[in-house]
Parts: sequence; structure tokens; C-alpha cells
Amino acid sequence: MSSNRALLLEARAKLAATSETPQLDAEVLLAHVLGVERVQIIADAARTASMDEVAQYLRLIDRRSNSEPVAYLTGEREFYGRKFSVSPSVLIPRPDTELLVDLAVQYLETIAAPRILELATGSGCIAISVALELHDREVQSDILASDISPDALRVAERNAAKLGASSLVRFLESDWFKTISKSRFDCILINPPYVERDATLATDLSFEPAGALFADDNGLSELRLLIQESPDWLLPGGKLFLECGAGQWDVLKADSELFLPYRSRAHKDLQGYDRVIECELLHPNHRS
Ligand code: GLN
Repeated sequence: MSSNRALLLEARAKLAATSETPQLDAEVLLAHVLGVERVQIIADAARTASMDEVAQYLRLIDRRSNSEPVAYLTGEREFYGRKFSVSPSVLIPRPDTELLVDLAVQYLETIAAPRILELATGSGCIAISVALELHDREVQSDILASDISPDALRVAERNAAKLGASSLVRFLESDWFKTISKSRFDCILINPPYVERDATLATDLSFEPAGALFADDNGLSELRLLIQESPDWLLPGGKLFLECGAGQWDVLKADSELFLPYRSRAHKDLQGYDRVIECELLHPNHRS
């Protein structure tokens, strides 16, 4: 007979070697198997699990001890206060990316009926969060979200349906701007791949789609390309918000020509890293 308490103890001991958060992982996975909220696991510490539940739990703990991310084991991750479904075809949403949503919403709520483009939407967490936040503020927006991966788009569409955003976000398969019909947007949002290929990585990253993570040129190739191409898709005065990695803004801004069509700056995440680059497209007749 295995009580919740006994299962958690066993799981925590097994995860201690590979996870930085063994207790949390053990609780989240047990709650997932039992179909309850995490707080209830502790409240019901003496509850006895069935043989099936125990077997299922131990299989998940085994996979977690091989560094498979918890989000892929439970199939979901919270982002901006909502639960998003995830699969190994999409990047797991990160808290850092919530800054991108904050900045986008702050900007977009000042615009009447904004037109928004998100590239590399993955799970859809950025486009869907922005759409729902604007909807809550009674801002009518038009959001197009694209990804190169049809599998990712299926996950994003499922999330939009589950979270009540299907009528707010349109999805399209596209390799960056390639199949976006020529038009101009008030805002472009992108969390591109920016991890350098030879980085010594946390083992966790090896389960996520490499195409969503890694880029050439010390992780800067896609950031550069997107900064260069976005002016053709932005309205004058429109803004590009681009997530980047620690230290990358300093390298990019040293190339002043790259930012010539824009007024640009970076915003720090909670750890103090420049995480989101904001580029406002200057009006054509602007003189600096
Ligand atoms: N912030 C992620 C990480 O370092 C990378 C996300 C990305 O490449 N867009 O794990």
C-alpha cells in the first residue's frame, strides 16, 4: 500500500540526483496522475493510491529522472495565468517570455483595433495571451500567428480553442515572413531561436525542438534577420518586440546600422538580463 506521503518520499529521493526541484516535480506529477490539484496531495498525505496509479506514477518519475521536462510529462505548462497544452513539438513556455506579453499589451491597448503578427508561435502562448488580455480590456485586435511547423500549429490551435481564443487569433504555416501576405502591422512579436549551438546546455533542452532553440552566429542569426526584415511589415510608428538571450542586446546594438530604421531599446527580465528588444519603426521622413 502506498500513501501519497510514501510515494512522494520515494520519488523525491529518486529525482534528487537529476532535478533541481525534486519535491515540486514529485508533487506535480502525483497530482497529474491522481487528477487533483497539487495542494490536495499534501492535504491527503495518508490517501492510498491504486496499483495502476502507482505504476503510472513510477513510470513518470523514471522518465523525469532521465531529465524529461515535467511539462512534457503532464502535457501542460502555466503561462501568464493560463494553462497551455504542450507537446515535444513546441518549446515549453518560459516565465521570461511573460515580459514580452506585458510590453505588447501595454503598447497595444493604446491603439484602436491593432493589427498584430506573431512569428514562431509554438504553443501559441504569446499570441493567445495577448489576444485574451486585449479582449479583457475591450480592445478589438486582429492577430495572425504563424509557425514553420504544422505540428506546432496544431498545438497552438488546440490551445486557442481550449482557452476561448479561436475567434481572436488566426494561424498560418510560414517560414518567418515567407507566406505572410504583404501587409503592415502595428506590432510584430517574436520569440525566435537564439541559443548558440555549442552552448553547454542543461540536459532538459535536449527534449525540446532544436529548431525553436538554436541559431547560428552565436545564436544571433535569426535575431539579425528578423530585425532586418521587419521594417517591410510594420506600419510607420509600429513596434517589433523580440525576445533575446542574456548579453545579446549588447552585441546587437553595437551594430548601429542594423537599427537605423528604428528607435530601439531593451527591457530587463526579473533576473536583470536584457530580455526583450523593442524596435519602433521611425516614420520615413524622420531625421535623427
Ligand atoms: N529562453 C530559452 C532558454 O534559454 C530559449 C528560448 C529561445 O531560444 N527562444 O532555454
